Amino acid sequence: MSQTMGVVERVEASAYTIPTDAPEGDGTITWESTTLVLVQVRSDDRVGYGWTYGSVACATVVDDLLGPLLVGRDPLDVTSAWEAMVRALRNVGRPGIGGMALSAVDCALWDLKARLLDLPLHKLLGAVHDEVLVYGSGGFTTYDDQQLTDQLNGWVHGHDIPRVKIKIGESWGTREQRDLRRVARARDVIGPDTELYVDANGGYSVGQAVRVASRLQDFDVRWFEEPVSSDDLPALARVRRQAGADVTAGEYGHDLAYFRRMCAAEAVDCLQVDVTRCGGITELLRVAAVAAAYGLDVSGHCAPHLHVGALMSVLNLRHLEWFHDHARIETILFDGTLDPTGGALQPAEDRAGHGLAPRPDRADGYRVA
Ligand SMILES: [Mg+2]
Repeated sequence: MSQTMGVVERVEASAYTIPTDAPEGDGTITWESTTLVLVQVRSDDRVGYGWTYGSVACATVVDDLLGPLLVGRDPLDVTSAWEAMVRALRNVGRPGIGGMALSAVDCALWDLKARLLDLPLHKLLGAVHDEVLVYGSGGFTTYDDQQLTDQLNGWVHGHDIPRVKIKIGESWGTREQRDLRRVARARDVIGPDTELYVDANGGYSVGQAVRVASRLQDFDVRWFEEPVSSDDLPALARVRRQAGADVTAGEYGHDLAYFRRMCAAEAVDCLQVDVTRCGGITELLRVAAVAAAYGLDVSGHCAPHLHVGALMSVLNLRHLEWFHDHARIETILFDGTLDPTGGALQPAEDRAGHGLAPRPDRADGYRVA
C-alpha cells in the first residue's frame, strides 16, 4: 500500500459496439448489437475500470461533465465524488444517460480504490457471502426451438447452473400461445430440478399476465419478471397478489427513491437492481438497505462481472443474472472474467479491485467513441 496516496489524475471514457451472436429480442424490443461504455479513472500508477451498457452519449457525459469534477480529488473518498456528480447531474437529468454515466464512473472509482489499497473489491467492501449465485439468462424470443434448446442445455447440462430464465411476452403479449409452448419446451429441456424463470419485459396487460401466471404454475415457474410495465406499480402489485411465482422488477431504477416507491407499493417479491444504471456501487448498497427494510431480497441485473464484488457484501442477496449478451461481451473485452460453472461466481482472491482488465487488442476493433 502506498504511504501517500495521490489524487485522481485522469478520467477517460470510450465506447464499443459488439454485434450479438444471433438476433436477440424480448417481449418489447429486439436488437442486433450492444454498446458498452467504459470509464477509466487513473491515480498514481493504478487505473480503475467501470462500465455501463447504453448509448455512446454516456461517454460524452463523462468527458464533458463528470470527469472534470473528479480530477484533483482524493480517490479514496468515493462517496464525496459521487455526491458531487449527482449534484452536477441535477439540470442534465439523472435517470437515463446521466445515471448510467454516473454508475460507470462510480464503479470505476470503487475499483480504483480497491486497487490502490491492493484489495479485492469484496474485501474492501466487506464480504458476507463466499460466492454469488447466478442464473443463466437469455432464451430470447427471436430464438428458434433449436437455439433455445442448445442454450438451456449449455447452462444446465454443460455448466451445471441450476437456475435459468427465458423471455416471454413476445410482440407485446400477442404471441401468448408461443410463449407458453416455449416455457413447456424449456421445462422439458432442463428437467424437473432446475429453477425456471420468465421475463415478459412489461409485454402483458394485467388480466393477461394473471392468466399467463396461472398457466406458468403448470411448469413450476418460480420467477415472473416484469409481467406488466414496471412504470405501473399498482398494476404490478395487482399481478403480484394473484401470481403463484415471485413477481420481480427494478432493472430500470436510476435512483434510491425509485426503489423505495417500488417497495412501498408492494409491487415485487424480489427487488432487482442494476449497478450500471442505479448510480453505481455507492447507490446499490443503499438500495439493498431499502429492500432489507421492506423484508425483500435483491437480485443483480445483467453486467455480471461488475456486480460480483459488490453483491458479495449484500446480506439480503438472492442471486445475479448471468445474461448471455453481457457475459459474452465481458469475456471478449476483458481479461480475468469468471466461470459460472456450478451456478456461482467467486472472484479471484489474488486480484485487486473487480479483477478485470480491458483487452485493447480485442476491443479496439469494436471501438466507436
Ligand atoms: Mg428483465
